[in-house]
Amino acid sequence: TPLSLIRNFSIIAHIDHGKSTLADRMIQACGALTAREMTNQVLDNMDLERERGITIKAQTVRLLYPAKDGQTYVLNLMDTPGHVDFAYEVSRSLAACEGSLLVVDASQGVEAQTLANVYQAIDANHEIVPILNKVDLPAAEPERVKAQIEEVIGIPADDAVEISAKTGLNIEGVLEAVVTRLPPPQGDAEKPLQAMLIDSWYDPYLGVIVLVRVKEGRLRRGIKMRMMSSGAVHQIDQVGVFSPRMTPVDSIGPGEMGYINAAIKTVADCNVGDTITDDRRPAEKALAGFKPSIPVVWCGLFPVVADDFEKLRDSLAKLRLNDASFHYEAETSAALGFGFRCGFLGLLHLEIIQERLSREFDLDLIATAPSVVYNITMTNGTKEVLHNPADMPDLSQIDHIEEPWIKATIMVPDEYLGAVLTLCSERRGVQADLTYVGTRAMAVYRLPLNEVVFDFYDRLKSLTRGYASFDYQMDGYEESDLVRISILVNQEPVDALSFIAHRSASETRGRAICARLKDLIPRQLFKIAIQAAIGSKVIARETIGALSKDVTAKCYGGDISRKRKLLEKQKEGKKRMRQFGKVEIPQSAFLAALKMD
Ligand code: GDP
Ligand code: MG
Repeated sequence: TPLSLIRNFSIIAHIDHGKSTLADRMIQACGALTAREMTNQVLDNMDLERERGITIKAQTVRLLYPAKDGQTYVLNLMDTPGHVDFAYEVSRSLAACEGSLLVVDASQGVEAQTLANVYQAIDANHEIVPILNKVDLPAAEPERVKAQIEEVIGIPADDAVEISAKTGLNIEGVLEAVVTRLPPPQGDAEKPLQAMLIDSWYDPYLGVIVLVRVKEGRLRRGIKMRMMSSGAVHQIDQVGVFSPRMTPVDSIGPGEMGYINAAIKTVADCNVGDTITDDRRPAEKALAGFKPSIPVVWCGLFPVVADDFEKLRDSLAKLRLNDASFHYEAETSAALGFGFRCGFLGLLHLEIIQERLSREFDLDLIATAPSVVYNITMTNGTKEVLHNPADMPDLSQIDHIEEPWIKATIMVPDEYLGAVLTLCSERRGVQADLTYVGTRAMAVYRLPLNEVVFDFYDRLKSLTRGYASFDYQMDGYEESDLVRISILVNQEPVDALSFIAHRSASETRGRAICARLKDLIPRQLFKIAIQAAIGSKVIARETIGALSKDVTAKCYGGDISRKRKLLEKQKEGKKRMRQFGKVEIPQSAFLAALKMD
């Protein structure tokens, strides 16, 4: 295919504005799938994505579009996630394209992630075509939203394409805009190969699959490819495209996207953003990669059954292959044994990974309290990076601690603004800006990330009945009065429950956790003290009264089989408990205790 007949583009939007539905319609319009093969949201192919109705992974598909000018174009479409946690996926897909379709719900208008995504597209030098979706809704106000796009984003919206992805209205208009308004890719098939590694994942039948965008040269089946950053060399077994099913081809040329399958054993060989070249005729330079992702939230993941440790290691390696923004390293905990310290881009990301581990890999896990990354300066002048509260040095050795801050943009209908401002100031937020876009307020706040990771997003949603949108960027580190709160059960510290908080909030949180643990830990034969402490100073305390009798006591010895059954049951229950000194804590207590109200 000549370059002039290729278009590579992404669809960007705020969550729920209709990206995936539009992608489905375009796939359908190009006849890539029969009506029967077409399930809703073809590109959201992870179970979890369909259930939650969100896109987690950027997905790509190749379409053939016979345009009005009589030519048939090759369209490579990338659907991207909309949630803040997955902004990294967005930046990757943008690096592989020349243009973006900016989908805005005509009944909602511009939202926080519309802005975040469109600025990323502008940074990537994309040509942008605004699409007004959901014009079938009575509440749609295309003219007002066009004005808003011009005013807030500053891109022309006169010739925005008005569509309904749901009913299929004017999908043709979108396809024509793609071929007439977006630029074709550039590149030279004769030059040495340069292909960008965009994504990789593990296929149970084929092994490692790598998604690439060829920039220069030609990627052929059978050649030896070299990953420029790791230097690893592999023979390419298969080259193919997504149409949308995986379809082998002989080669892919400049400007094209596709996949390669090679016997790659080491997951570490596949670095997202790396440049792939031909080992026989290598390119002189690697392509400019994209920024590596930096995890902002860490937590420990431990197998409930210690024997699952190797399985967990193996599963994490496979997940990491598919999600370069996910990090992990081995960790041991006095309470929980062998496990991994894992880094995530946010809480939703954490939740998704945990759920994937349990569903796709059938693992039962205990997660410890999520923590942000702190910078510590010791009294002797050395500096430490801390992402595990259990590793926090004694306060007497610490000169000062810095915590990460974010700059958050919150857009919300006027009537909920008061509640949002209260929430932000409760979380130590500092207002940076407050403006209006029509009847929606746009509040910009600086907030400590620590106050946001736990439940800020959930609280914001419930306070505004789902109408607020939220986006954030990291915004440096600042010194802060932080303390570690340890939780002691029957005088034994439970490292997995310790957490770091601002001193002003420490007592309230310590008390809340003790109260919750009191309900979560079953009574035992002796009294149990539950304490929260800063250093050796106890700041909160609860007591669980002793159980008066053994469960089997009432059977006296009379009914042996009933007694055995009860003991059996007890044993079963114990498997899901963790022993702390003399006390057993149910697995479910760990997460539940850490949730804030
Ligand atoms: P995404 O999060 O941007 O991928 O959004 P989805 O494609 O998952 O769509 C979110 C919701 O909006 C779904 O319930 C869709 O059925 C609905 N939706 C998408 N496009 C339209 C449209 O044109 N009109 C109406 N009424 N609903 C739509
Ligand atoms: Mg989607």
